[in-house]
Amino acid sequence: MMWKHSSKMFMENNELRLDALGNQAVLTPWRSKRPKDFATQRPTKTTLPSKCFFCPGNEHMTPPEIDRITRNGNWAVRCFPNKFPAFAKNFPKAYGRHEVIVELPDHYKTLSEVSLAGFGDYLEMVRRRVQDAYKDKRIKYVQVFKNEGHEAGASLEHSHTQLVAMPQVPFMVQKLAERAQKGFLKNVLRSEKKRTFYENSGFAAFCPYASRFHLESWIMAKGKARHFGELDSSQMHSLAEALKTTLSRMDLLLNFAPYNIVFYISPPKSKIPICIQILPRLAKWAGFEFGTGIIMNSMMPEVAAKALSARKY
Ligand SMILES: [Zn+2]
Repeated sequence: MMWKHSSKMFMENNELRLDALGNQAVLTPWRSKRPKDFATQRPTKTTLPSKCFFCPGNEHMTPPEIDRITRNGNWAVRCFPNKFPAFAKNFPKAYGRHEVIVELPDHYKTLSEVSLAGFGDYLEMVRRRVQDAYKDKRIKYVQVFKNEGHEAGASLEHSHTQLVAMPQVPFMVQKLAERAQKGFLKNVLRSEKKRTFYENSGFAAFCPYASRFHLESWIMAKGKARHFGELDSSQMHSLAEALKTTLSRMDLLLNFAPYNIVFYISPPKSKIPICIQILPRLAKWAGFEFGTGIIMNSMMPEVAAKALSARKY
């Protein structure tokens, strides 16, 4: 019957949601396409490995190396200071650190294509650098993030992650810490159960209730660990499996669409659960989003979670 398909009927399904972390979204499924309709063309890399700052053989093109993990005599993961830092030890008004972690030596691969052992190395490097930054008492917060693809803010094509350590806890993270202190975040995993598309012994991956991005996915610790230093080797392995599974499914579904990854790692005295958020950049934020902090998202997280549960698309 025609009336069933009128836009009015679909618009009546719009829903304003607020999640435990304080994110707000208005879900507008009447505008939505199916998840696989958002698949992009995999971007072609235009820089040659010989000209790439992050490729093996060009190590002299980066600032002096801070740390590396070696496999079979070659580096598997490498870390060095950002050439154009936002924060640095010699900046009196922006004290801190800004580091680059090259996740893999292969110029033409991206993070989801790294082996499970490679994910273990990558997360081990993240853990080492976070712990090292917090040894400095002037550092109050460490943010680890990845920009994949031009639309997600990546300026260099070779797959990499960044770490910024700063002298203040950002306002947004302070708010999150307050919510954690008040116990708001205790039951997140229970309330997200129906949107959970993967879980193992240590971590669960789900599309959050108030998703701000199409196919937004969070990987959250199931246990009491709040800091990387509290994860034992089996929990680190669980995290590597959960992150690899989520990223691989997303890249398969969306054909390597741009995304950001943000690592929420609790400041030393706070109790924010370890949470890694993967944020596909398929829509642009505009006036409404900047004015209200409420994000319009045309894909229901329940639909996104179902798509990410499937192994084939
Ligand atoms: Zn390269």
